[in-house]
Amino acid sequence: MRILIAGGGLSGLSLAAHLAARPEPLGSITVVDDASRPITQAGWASWSDSPGLLDVAVSRTFDRFRVHVGGRERIVDLGAYRYRFVRGDDFAAAVGRMTSRHGGFTFHSGHVSDIRQAGQGAEVLVDGEAMYANWVFDSVLGLEPPRADAWLIFRGWHVRTAAPAFDPAIPTLFDFRTAQSRAASFLYVLPRGPQEALVEHTSFASTRSHGVAYVKEQRYALGEYLSGVLGIRDCTVGREESGSLPLSAHAVDRRRGSVLTIGTKAGMVKASTGYAFERIQTDSAAIARSLATLGHPFDLPKSPHRYRVFDAALLDVITRDPAQLERVFATLFDRSSAEPVLRFLDEASSVAQEGRLLAGLPPSLYRAVARRHR
Ligand SMILES: Cc1cc2nc3c(=O)[nH]c(=O)nc-3n(C[C@H](O)[C@H](O)[C@H](O)COP(=O)(O)OP(=O)(O)OC[C@H]3O[C@@H](n4cnc5c(N)ncnc54)[C@H](O)[C@@H]3O)c2cc1C
Repeated sequence: MRILIAGGGLSGLSLAAHLAARPEPLGSITVVDDASRPITQAGWASWSDSPGLLDVAVSRTFDRFRVHVGGRERIVDLGAYRYRFVRGDDFAAAVGRMTSRHGGFTFHSGHVSDIRQAGQGAEVLVDGEAMYANWVFDSVLGLEPPRADAWLIFRGWHVRTAAPAFDPAIPTLFDFRTAQSRAASFLYVLPRGPQEALVEHTSFASTRSHGVAYVKEQRYALGEYLSGVLGIRDCTVGREESGSLPLSAHAVDRRRGSVLTIGTKAGMVKASTGYAFERIQTDSAAIARSLATLGHPFDLPKSPHRYRVFDAALLDVITRDPAQLERVFATLFDRSSAEPVLRFLDEASSVAQEGRLLAGLPPSLYRAVARRHR
C-alpha cells in the first residue's frame, strides 16, 4: 500500500505519527511539503484531559489560567485538564523520531499543485511530476471551502521585559480590557518566564480584514495593553506573528474517492474557539485506526449536530453585537473550575451538563439557536 500525505504541517505530521504508532504494516508513506509555512516558526497551545501520543513534544504545561471578564479577574482551575504548549520544532523532532523507528517513511520536499483520482488510487502532482498513491491525505488543497461564519484575526508580540512582569505559572486565556467597538476582542498572554511572553490581540470579526488601518489598531491595542493595563514600562518586542483563520460551523465535505482532506481544510478548527490541535490529534488517531483495521480511512466519528448549532449561534451573535462575547464568557467562566466549559468545547459533554452550563447565557444567544433550528 502507498500512502501520500500532502503537507507536513500540524495535521500532516500528526497523521504520520499516528500511522507510525500502529502495529499493523501500512506500506510506504510519503510526506510532501514545500516549506511555505516553516514548522520551526509554528507553535500550538491546547488543552487536554488525557495522555496523547505526542506529549513528549509538550514544552509548557499549566493547571490553571487567568481570565479578566466583566470587570473582574479570576484564576480558574482546569480540573482534569491541562493547558499545554508545543513548539513546532519540538513537534517535528518528535514525529521524526517516531517515523524513523518505523522505516516506511519518506519526507519529500516539493510543491503540490493538483490531486486527482487515478484508477483505484490518486495522483498527486508534485513539482509537475505525478506521484501515485492508494490513499492521499490532503492538508494543502482541500475541496470546496465551507462558508466562513466569522474570522479569527490575531496579532501577537513576543515580548521581553526589563523587569519581571508575567506570572510564568498562569497564562491569561482572555482579558477583555481592550476596545470592543470594531469586533469582539480580547488579549491573550502565554508566559515563557517572568520577563518573557507571547501577548496576542485576538478578534472574532465578521470579515477578513487585512487593511493597514486594522493592523495599526491591533498594534495600538497591544501597546495599550502592555503599558496601560499591565503597567509595563520597559520592554522589547521581538517577533510579531499574525493570522486570520476562517471559522465555519458548517460540516465540511472531506472525501473524494481515495483522497481525504485533513487539518484546517477539513474543518478541524473549532468554530467557537479557533483551536485545532487536539481535534487534529483525535482525527489523526481515528484515520490511522480505520486504515489499519478496515483497509480504508473513512470510519471517522461525526461531531454531534448540537455543537455546530451552538458554534453558529455564538458567531452569529458576536459578529452582530461584539459586546456579547464578554457577556457569554463572563457567564461560562463564572465558576472555580473551567473543566465543564472545556468538556463542552471538546464536544464531550452530556445534554444535562450543557443545560447547567448554558443556563444564564444572554437571551440573544438562545434566539440565535432558535433561528438555526427553524
Ligand atoms: C498563526 C496561527 C497560530 C495558531 N495557533 C493555534 C494554537 O495555538 N492552538 C491550536 O489549537 N490551533 C492553532 N492554530 C490553528 C491550527 O491548529 C493551525 O493552523 C495548524 O497549523 C493547522 O494545521 P494544518 O496541517 O491544517 O496546516 P499547517 O500546519 O499550516 O500545515 C500545512 C503544511 O503544508 C505545507 N504546504 C502548503 N501548501 C503546500 C503545497 N501546495 N504543497 C506542499 N506543501 C504545502 C506548508 O508548508 C505546511 O507545512 C493556529 C493557526 C495559525 C494560522
